[in-house]
Amino acid sequence: MSDCLFCKIEKGDIPSEKVYEDERLFVIKDINPQAPTHLLVIPRKHHSTILELQEDDFEMIGSIYGVAGKLARQLGMADDGFRVVVNCGRHGGQSVYHIHFHILGGRPMAWPPG
Ligand code: 5GP
Ligand code: ZN
Repeated sequence: MSDCLFCKIEKGDIPSEKVYEDERLFVIKDINPQAPTHLLVIPRKHHSTILELQEDDFEMIGSIYGVAGKLARQLGMADDGFRVVVNCGRHGGQSVYHIHFHILGGRPMAWPPG
């Protein structure tokens, strides 16, 4: 989508700090980190929210948890733990309408979330 921030980052039109990529997704550092480590796992294919996902997308979405686990190990977050979050829509606190998974770690997380 031409007016989508994460599609522009995917194309390289907007710079980002990439920490991982494969044919289906890429991972960047969040520009406004909410924890010592704050990454965004972003599927290359544009979907506004998880509500748009189709059966064809489920395998790719599942692979995100594998990537999250690998990165968490590499970044030293496996022992203390970390959080993987998807915000969906207005009440979910979503601000960029291209599906992404937050990986947050490096400090204890509160529950329930605000
Ligand atoms: P959401 O609020 O939609 O769940 O998450 C969007 C995230 O994208 C926010 O954490 C925000 O800081 C991050 N973000 C917004 N604009 C940019 C950008 O231009 N570059 C990067 N790396 N992250 C961004
Ligand atoms: Zn997009």
